[in-house]
Amino acid sequence: SFVTECPPTITEIGRNTWSVLHSISAYYPKNPNKEQQKQALNFLISLSELYPCSKCRKHLSNYLKKHPPRVESNKAFNIYLCQMHNSINKYLKKPQFDCSQATSRWKGPWKNCK
Ligand code: FAD
Repeated sequence: SFVTECPPTITEIGRNTWSVLHSISAYYPKNPNKEQQKQALNFLISLSELYPCSKCRKHLSNYLKKHPPRVESNKAFNIYLCQMHNSINKYLKKPQFDCSQATSRWKGPWKNCK
């Protein structure tokens, strides 16, 4: 039967985008080569041009200008995105996330997860 699905809200797009971003950094190489670093940087820049919410896009492009992306290692990229997400959490009055937990939040094992 036909099921009507609704277009995603800004909140859903946000949550899904964070899943993609944090997962990309969680699985990013420990020692990325120059090409991988360039692709990570380009991904963030493209997102800041194309993100489908103008206010969010502005947050992102301002953040990138103020805080040049750290893509030189898995660790640096994870911390960079965690801090970027925290700056948006702060703006939205959401709790700050403990960045030491970022890897276990976004990369397996799954056995103790709800
Ligand atoms: P989310 O913030 O979506 O987070 C999802 C999960 O990530 C959390 O449940 C938590 O487990 C984990 N998490 C939380 N913080 C961190 C962190 N610092 N590091 C790692 N993991 C973390 N919404 C607006 O209403 N206005 C805006 O201007 C706006 N700007 C945005 C800009 C960008 C670039 C993006 C990607 C999203 C933006 N959003 C904005 C959406 C907003 O950030 C949330 O995604 C949305 O409000 C849903 O929130 P949530 O409570 O489900 O958790």
